Amino acid sequence: MKEEIQAYVRNLFAEGKIKGFLGLKQKGTDVGPHLFTNADELEELSLGDRESPAEARYPLDKILTHLASEYPNETLGVLVRGCDERALQLLFTVSMLDPDHVIPVGFACPAELAEKHQCWKPFPDALVAGEPAQGVVGGEDPVGAQMDLLGKLQQWFDTFDRCVKCFGCRNICPVCYCHECTLEEAAMIPRGDIPPANPNFLMTRAMHMVGRSLCVYCGLCEEVCPADIPLKSLYKLVAKVVGQEGTTPEGLAAKEEEKQVAAGS
Ligand code: SF4
Ligand code: SF4
Ligand code: SF4
Repeated sequence: MKEEIQAYVRNLFAEGKIKGFLGLKQKGTDVGPHLFTNADELEELSLGDRESPAEARYPLDKILTHLASEYPNETLGVLVRGCDERALQLLFTVSMLDPDHVIPVGFACPAELAEKHQCWKPFPDALVAGEPAQGVVGGEDPVGAQMDLLGKLQQWFDTFDRCVKCFGCRNICPVCYCHECTLEEAAMIPRGDIPPANPNFLMTRAMHMVGRSLCVYCGLCEEVCPADIPLKSLYKLVAKVVGQEGTTPEGLAAKEEEKQVAAGS
């Protein structure tokens, strides 16, 4: 699969379609984001699969917004999985990126990852490599199934108390794009308190993600949280409580199905 991506991107460079390609690079035993600026460098491309699929994931779309603001007239390629492409579409919608200056280069996630992430579309439309696996819709949510939001409010508040206010969830989120973040407004969240104001801190972030239909359920926030707070489950439950079922993975899966039906008719 990696060879197909390398060949495709080499071609983009050869045809002068991109100035650079934002992907992942193997550095010794580590994998990290890297802007490839020529085809020769692509030997070191990584898809982030180490001992398990997608073990090294980064919010490449978010990094791309910073590169695009530095080089607004250049076209850049970017490596995407299904969830990355969904985030990319959102960033196009809010004008954080210009679709005319971005070429997504996509690959499919394996079925085991779709199962692990409860992912309804584990592949991008801009698919270059890999076989699309079946999406997982309405599967068992190991945390959410045990913890309904309103019925177990105290349990959630206790969970929120584990938060160390590292901002990792916000910083890694591909669609957290505000220049001024409410979570840093002292009037909302008093400074210096650990754990941060409970439930304001985590519920403010949840409401921003859900209320503005931002979350693409990539699960990066949950993966980085040092306190193991089940953030993805929280956002899903909040979406249901506030009547935003259409933004849950099930709701998004239904919209995708409608789109496919409309495209086929
Ligand atoms: S959320 Fe879906 S597309 Fe994203 S890494 Fe997981 S399985 Fe792949
Ligand atoms: S799952 Fe977390 S990191 Fe991913 S889009 Fe939603 S809030 Fe952001
Ligand atoms: S990543 Fe976890 S510990 Fe850090 S601010 Fe977010 S919820 Fe709190």
